[in-house]
Amino acid sequence: MEFAILNGSIINRSEAKVDIEDRGYQFGDGVYEVIRVYNGKLFTENEHLARFGKSSESIDISLPYSVTELANLLEELVLKNDLQMGIVYMQMTRGAAPRNHAYPAKGITPTLVAYTKEFPRPVDSLQTGVKTILLDDIRWLRCDIKSLNLLGNLLAKQKAAEQACYEAIQHRSETVTEGSSSNIFIVKNGVVITHPSDPFILKGITKDVIIQQCLASTIQVEERPFSIEELQQADEVFLSSTTSEVMPIVEIDRNRVKNGTPGPITRKLQALFEKEIEKQCGALPDKVIV
Ligand SMILES: *Cc1c(COP(=O)(O)O)cnc(C)c1O
Repeated sequence: MEFAILNGSIINRSEAKVDIEDRGYQFGDGVYEVIRVYNGKLFTENEHLARFGKSSESIDISLPYSVTELANLLEELVLKNDLQMGIVYMQMTRGAAPRNHAYPAKGITPTLVAYTKEFPRPVDSLQTGVKTILLDDIRWLRCDIKSLNLLGNLLAKQKAAEQACYEAIQHRSETVTEGSSSNIFIVKNGVVITHPSDPFILKGITKDVIIQQCLASTIQVEERPFSIEELQQADEVFLSSTTSEVMPIVEIDRNRVKNGTPGPITRKLQALFEKEIEKQCGALPDKVIV
C-alpha cells in the first residue's frame, strides 16, 4: 500500500482527498517543495524545510507544525513507502473557504499534503548533457517564492518539450534569469557565474550547494546578472535543480555550447555534488563520475 500525508497524519494514499473549494485548487494559493531521496534518506532536508517555511511566511500562511514534526513525518512517510531513490513532493495551501480572492483572516486551516514518487537519477542526461531553448521570462515579480502558481513556468517548459528540449532558459530583456524549474550557470575563463538570489529567481537549494562547493574548492564563483550574449559565448553552461542535480547544457536554440560536450568545470562540479550526496545519504549505486 502507498501512503501519503494529509494534515499531519499518514494515511492510505487513495484516501487523501481535499475540498473542491481548497484555495490551492482554485487559486494556486500555496507553496510547495520537492525533496530528493537517495538510498532512503532525504538530501538537504533542513534546507528544503527552511525554504518551505520562508515561502509560506511570505504569503502569510503559517506552518501548523514545527519543522521537527514535519521532518519526522516526512521521514516516516519515506520509510512506510519503502522509497529508496525518488522524491518527496509536499505542498501547503491556505486551506478551504468559500471562493473569494481576498482570504479569510482567521479560522482557516492550511491544507498540507505530501507523497512520494520513485524517480531514478537522470544518469544518461547527466553524462551527455541536454538541449535547451531561450525564452522570454513572462512570470511575475516574486519568483523567489516557491508558489503553486506555475503557469508561466509550465508554458515555458511546454515550449521546450515541443522542441524536444529539456529546459527553457528564461530572460528578462538582456538578462538571463533562470530555467522554468532550474537555475542556470555559465562558466567563462574558469569563473562560474549565476544570477543572484533576488525576487527574479527561485533560490535553489542545489544552486546553494554548488556555490558552497566552489567556495570550498579552488573554483571561482560570482553571483551576478549575466546577459544573453554572455550565455551564448560561455565556455560551459549547466543547470541545477533537486531532480536534475548538476546538468550540463550542450545546446541552446540549436546552437552548440562550445564543442557540444559537457565541460571540465561542469564535470568537476558533478563529481563534488556526488560526493556531497554520498556524504549525506551513503554510497550511490549509479555514479556519473567514477
Ligand atoms: C524549485 C525550482 C528551482 C530549483 O530549486 P532546487 O531547490 O535546486 O530544486 C529553480 N527554479 C524554479 C523556478 C524552481 O521552482
